[in-house]
Amino acid sequence: MFLSLKSIQMRQWKLIVFISFFLTLVTNMTFFKHVIEVYPLSWSTLPFIISLGILLVSVSTILLTLFSWQRATKPLLITVVMLSAFVAYFMDTYDIVIDTHMIDNVLQTNFNESADLFSVTLIFYVLFMGLIPSYLIYRVKIQYESLKAILIEKGKMLGIALGIALVVLMAFNKNYTSFFREHKPLRYYANPAYYFYSIGHFIQKNLTHHYTGLQQIGEDAKIPVTDVDRELVILVVGEAARWDHFSLNGYSRETNPLLKKENIINFDQFSSCGTETAVSVPCMFSSLTRDNYDGEKAQHIENVLDVIGHAGVHVLWRDNNSDSKGVALRATYEDFKSPQKNTICEEEECRDEGMLIGLQEYIDAHPKGDIVIVLHQMGNHGPAYYKRYPKQFEKFTPVCKSNQLEQCSEQEITNAYDNAILYTDYFLSKTIAFLKQNDEKFETAMFYVSDHGESLGEKGLYLHGFPYAIAPEAQKHVPAMMWFGKHFEVDRKKLNQIAKKPWSHDSYFHTVLNFSEITSKIYKPELDILHDIHE
Ligand SMILES: [Zn+2]
Repeated sequence: MFLSLKSIQMRQWKLIVFISFFLTLVTNMTFFKHVIEVYPLSWSTLPFIISLGILLVSVSTILLTLFSWQRATKPLLITVVMLSAFVAYFMDTYDIVIDTHMIDNVLQTNFNESADLFSVTLIFYVLFMGLIPSYLIYRVKIQYESLKAILIEKGKMLGIALGIALVVLMAFNKNYTSFFREHKPLRYYANPAYYFYSIGHFIQKNLTHHYTGLQQIGEDAKIPVTDVDRELVILVVGEAARWDHFSLNGYSRETNPLLKKENIINFDQFSSCGTETAVSVPCMFSSLTRDNYDGEKAQHIENVLDVIGHAGVHVLWRDNNSDSKGVALRATYEDFKSPQKNTICEEEECRDEGMLIGLQEYIDAHPKGDIVIVLHQMGNHGPAYYKRYPKQFEKFTPVCKSNQLEQCSEQEITNAYDNAILYTDYFLSKTIAFLKQNDEKFETAMFYVSDHGESLGEKGLYLHGFPYAIAPEAQKHVPAMMWFGKHFEVDRKKLNQIAKKPWSHDSYFHTVLNFSEITSKIYKPELDILHDIHE
């Protein structure tokens, strides 16, 4: 059947229009689903919804016409069709939008993490929305014309497509005002237009950055001579844990059976800097606050680990997540994601508690000075929550055993997610137990904060990484807690009051400085949670 296509000849513009229709009708299910949520289907809204379809075809035609050129046309169309198939899958399955952060994420994610996302449905999408149309494009014969003829054809095409778009916009002027002003997020789902925009934005951002080298900060950092005691601080960076699924925070399920026995300072209103690891983790350790945070800039300025390093603190980063996202580039870094270093692994999944193994040896090898250890958890990394805990933590059942969350009931997803929280409860209590062993020699403390939260299917949203301004609370409100050993002098009563106030990752930098009682010009007491709590 395909062989007969060999004879199909087509003008370039026809092929582009054809592909634009295909992309609009086939890869925009999530877009239209969300449109219908906002403009419920009726005889009065139908013309507008159809006009959106026409607009999408026009925009796709304009983009494809602009970027196609002679013999590069087919490779371009095939790339777009393949990419759109993947994007459609991730949007339809996880309601994920492809913004610049997401592109950043994709480029920074390691294979193991992405492997969790593969599924039979993905193969189906790629085959029917990507490979088959690509094959057809490959088989079509485009007539190549003279430069002049091409330019004229392109000019006509752009003129017609723009004209249609303008007519549609004017005809439904009222609806489009609300569409663009009040329902901004809808456009994030337009496929392929939005990822074209995001890729362009991403490239522009990466080409135009003017940050080079490494700006030193807090070179004057030092520990006062009066502070003779040694501090041993463990900073646990959580992964995708949401505040409202900790029983310490009032969750109806017992997800903190071990931590509730500890003398914890628990935070009520802690908000994250980003909604994804690649933003939140560097932001936490950066002196920049969320309002002026720029990931590119932050990579060129020293972070709080560098500053405490200037003061002579020993810094160790152990990672069971993807990596430190650039934070630990100048610190001692140990990878605990593989059985090479981590002795507690089941098949390819290594446990967070493995990061505690051999830690005593590290401490004993540093007989002088303060020690700060960062443990970067795998925590509640989705979508395969069921992989994130050993079998004995499967207290809430049945659990979703698929990485395709939409195939599971909300209850099954939540069960798997809560079991992973239960395992974090265990991991944190084990970390505290480890600090207790070192209580005689050190002033010990632990500070746990999650990097961002997670959506578990509310309003059809899953996972995280939604644009911050429109992300639900579940992705931004994170659990945070502190624990102090017996020699660490804190006014608990005061701190418990402070913990009821709203805090955010903005305070992380300055609070970490305070753990080692470091003085520096860069320190801002107003951002320090521990300011004024020493007895
Ligand atoms: Zn994360």
